[in-house]
Amino acid sequence: MAAPGGPRPGNFPPNYNPNSLSNNMQNLQINQQQPNNAGVSAPRPPPNATPFGQRAPAFAGSRPGPPPPGVFPRAPVPPNAPAQTTLPPNMVSSRPAGPPPGSQLPPPPFASRPPPPGAMPSSIGGPVTPSPPALGPRPGSYPSSPQTSAPSTPSHGSGSGPVSNGPPTFAPRMTQSGPPFPPAMGSMPRPLVGPPQPPAMLSSRPSSQPMQMHSSFGGPPTAVSSASGQSAPPFSGPPQNMMPPLGSSPFSAPNTGMHQSINSPYGMQTWPAQPQQVAPPPPGSMQQPPLMFGMPPGGQSLPNQSMAMSHSGQSNIDPNQIPRLAPSASVIVHETRQGNQANPPPPATSDYIVKDTGNSSPRYMRCTINQVPLTADLLSTSGMQMSLLVQPLALAHPSEEPIHVVDFGESGPVRCSRCKGYINPFVKFIDQGRRFICNLCGFMDETPRDYHCNLGPDGRRRDADERPELCRGTVEFVATKDYMVRDPMPAVFFFLIDVSMNPTQTGATAAACSAIRQVIADLPKGPRTMVGIATFDSTIHFYNLKRSSQQPLMLIVPDVQDVYTPLESDVIVQFSECCEHLEMLLDNIPTMFESNRIADSALGAAVKAAFLAMKNTGGKLLVFQSVLPSTGIGSLSVRESEGRSNISAGEKEAHKLLQPSDKTLKTMAMELAEYQVCVDLFITSQMYVDIASLSVIPRTTGGQVYYYYPFSARSDPAKLYNDLRWNITRPQGFEAVLRVRCSQGIQVQEYSGNFCKRIPTDVDLPAIDCDKTIMVSLNHDDKLQEGSECSFQCALLYTTVYGQRRIRVSTLSLPCTNMLSNLFRSADLDTQFTCITKQAAIEIPSAPLAQVRDQATNVCINILYSYRKFCATVSSSGQLILPEALKMLPLYTLALLKCIGLRSDGRIDDRSVWINYVSPLPTPLVIPLVYPRMIALQDLNEKELDDSIIPVPIPLSSEHIAIDGIYLLENGVDCLIYVGEDVQPNILQQMFGISSIEEIPNQFILQQYDNPLSKKLNDIVNEIRRQRCSYLRLRLCKKGDPSGMMFFSYLVEDKTANGFSYVEYLIHIHRQIQNKMA
Ligand SMILES: [Zn+2]
Repeated sequence: MAAPGGPRPGNFPPNYNPNSLSNNMQNLQINQQQPNNAGVSAPRPPPNATPFGQRAPAFAGSRPGPPPPGVFPRAPVPPNAPAQTTLPPNMVSSRPAGPPPGSQLPPPPFASRPPPPGAMPSSIGGPVTPSPPALGPRPGSYPSSPQTSAPSTPSHGSGSGPVSNGPPTFAPRMTQSGPPFPPAMGSMPRPLVGPPQPPAMLSSRPSSQPMQMHSSFGGPPTAVSSASGQSAPPFSGPPQNMMPPLGSSPFSAPNTGMHQSINSPYGMQTWPAQPQQVAPPPPGSMQQPPLMFGMPPGGQSLPNQSMAMSHSGQSNIDPNQIPRLAPSASVIVHETRQGNQANPPPPATSDYIVKDTGNSSPRYMRCTINQVPLTADLLSTSGMQMSLLVQPLALAHPSEEPIHVVDFGESGPVRCSRCKGYINPFVKFIDQGRRFICNLCGFMDETPRDYHCNLGPDGRRRDADERPELCRGTVEFVATKDYMVRDPMPAVFFFLIDVSMNPTQTGATAAACSAIRQVIADLPKGPRTMVGIATFDSTIHFYNLKRSSQQPLMLIVPDVQDVYTPLESDVIVQFSECCEHLEMLLDNIPTMFESNRIADSALGAAVKAAFLAMKNTGGKLLVFQSVLPSTGIGSLSVRESEGRSNISAGEKEAHKLLQPSDKTLKTMAMELAEYQVCVDLFITSQMYVDIASLSVIPRTTGGQVYYYYPFSARSDPAKLYNDLRWNITRPQGFEAVLRVRCSQGIQVQEYSGNFCKRIPTDVDLPAIDCDKTIMVSLNHDDKLQEGSECSFQCALLYTTVYGQRRIRVSTLSLPCTNMLSNLFRSADLDTQFTCITKQAAIEIPSAPLAQVRDQATNVCINILYSYRKFCATVSSSGQLILPEALKMLPLYTLALLKCIGLRSDGRIDDRSVWINYVSPLPTPLVIPLVYPRMIALQDLNEKELDDSIIPVPIPLSSEHIAIDGIYLLENGVDCLIYVGEDVQPNILQQMFGISSIEEIPNQFILQQYDNPLSKKLNDIVNEIRRQRCSYLRLRLCKKGDPSGMMFFSYLVEDKTANGFSYVEYLIHIHRQIQNKMA
């Protein structure tokens, strides 16, 4: 790992390619690389620095964004490319050598198979109530033990037990290679819960006068006449500990630092607000008698923006003054608690470094509102929803302290004996430490004798600062046998490749084989890693990879209706035993099938056969598919044509094409999940493949869909390789169970994401990785206590790729409030909008599109109406008033309506892909997906790119597109570069190696040429890839052809044939609010 002093904190190592192949990569930018290494080496607290013992291994891997695979022809790597030597240890390219030639295969390392179903314990729950986490084959393997314990409130209850997740299993250094921190983009300043900041009012006069923004504190919004406040967002104000990117770690004294900052997180003390930090209003303020439902305390008005609207609906609004993102390039240092109070997190899309001072890092868990309403009525009045987004294995910033691993030995972690909640900083010890009160269910428990410790004068345990579980919002517990129904499973990777006529001819089969061939060196090292491979067309072909044979033997399974697996023990082999055979096979498969004339594909049967081979262990099944499955179990029909006619007939039933065609695949998916098999689908197609049906498998098993349409053998292999590589090298875990518990009064209503659910309280995840997020909707089942805090605890029980069983526990405690104004002040825009987007994605397949679209707009209207009615002090009905924290909500909502998933003109498969992509997507990627980032490239040479590699984003409006400009627009999936008609030829030559826009190729591969402009462009693209943990599909676009239309379709602020412009949408929203007010 690199030494401290690397690049600034914000600069995470791009995803470089660990293996030597990367030397061939073309896009690598030298500059980038430096950062990479640096990132890896980013300053990190010395190992011993913390008072606590071990930490979870940090993720040392490289991120996806990096350079394209070396396989494809590309420019040689610049000579000064960063040396690969700096690669993190685990990334070392050396792969485990196979056993000595001739040696017989050792018995499979996992000889011990999971006990027969009946034999296993059934609950995962806690040790207390040993619920056998049935990892094994049987369903319900992880019964949540909680049930037993907490009958009444399932949601809090038993989940605790079994859920052990380990620290990020990933290699020893899974800590954090750079997280996908989207930079500045979303970082608009927003008001913190704390002290009310001066409201920013955007007011435009109703008349013809352009609206102007003012920042008035409390003043009547109407007063806004001067343009004074305008572009400077009033909110940006309170510096949250902004920190200039320095090479040094923000926590100068990482270890010891904790003591300082943690003024006892738990005690009840006064709140020493630290300078520069925004402290929430003293508790007292929240308890003051409400002036009125929701009036801000002290008569101060809430920060907001108001803009005058003319009643005629004509827009007098100056587009330059309507609410926009104000990206901040600075890295924010965020302490999760300050002065014994929860500190509202920075925007999810900003670049920040978290210091865990008692509450969970917002990377692992964040709430739509940072104060919890006392009653369901109050929440309902606000129009907002209360949900958590949990991403338990999220990548941390390299400068953040790694998560501590706590080992309680044979007794396992201390838990509440009633709700099974895990010990955490908010548990209150009493009676000289002999007993403790659970912050989740309120139960009073005996402190285990060997865990006893006296209390200090402040009421806290004297050892609180030395015990991570008592002073950190997130810790990882070593799971005991009670959390296992069998030995932790090995890391099994099974590759299933479509070799029917279509993919062999389009090059998709060759691309898949090449990608696998390159990434196998990155598989987790060690005896616990096993692999298998099969190909299929209308039959299934397994391969015996055992070393004893001269070459891999093909074993054909012809029956695709009643599938079986030959020689189970020979098709999944210890990786070190079969590495050479596997490579040989991958090199040969494209040739073996190059003249294949079988057009049929038995995908369902192939998945089933692979499942049978993996049934005893579980593992990851990586499927490369190109055509609609046409034969054998689970075959599908071309519904799309029939859907087209339905659409033209009147869209009523159109959404049914977005539902699975039947239940066959769902049933299969449930079985896969039960046996801990996670499926990822890589679709490299040229046609309709019915994603709506196929995607049921990855969604149910904790996997995901990758989509390459139309597949291009020229430009897509690089992305396929990078996607696959990130898929297997990112931090991840297996056979997981997740449960969220809440304090009394709040309960989990529903979980959403990619998982399997057999019982209401727990989520089963055959696999989970750092990119997967689960939305947890909450509701009240009782009134909360005024002046109290409400806790949320997410526990994930999982097995690391190295076979350790762990429980990752994140606890977040938020203040309760009975004031509506506090809810608006503490609203988390990014989180709220992410939930709105996910809900829309869930609704699309089951409701008419118009209804889904109206619903999204109505959510926006209801929230703004509530604010206008109960919190705004402005009296003029001619003003649209937006709470500062949510001022971007209308723009985001408008952008959502224009997403492919919510448009009727999109291809059915494209819409299904969008829905599937959104399902497990983390907040920092949802925002750019809906509201992409656009930057100007033509003047790169004139700008000195200070710290930020990526220029400041510009609004998504064609007004900002000049004919002699070049613009890059990216949403985390696609990256479009639009070239204006009058761009100077020398710029085209320098950037793209072409002399006029007529030469723009359909399939574009970014090259790096020997000039500064090209280098800057490559740096930008690689930085974006690093931030998004995605390689992105690149496309050059020009006016007048489909590529140009695609580019302009992302300019969501423009008026379209069926859609409002941004200003029109604001007026629309305003009218609706006026109607409700009347
Ligand atoms: Zn409890």
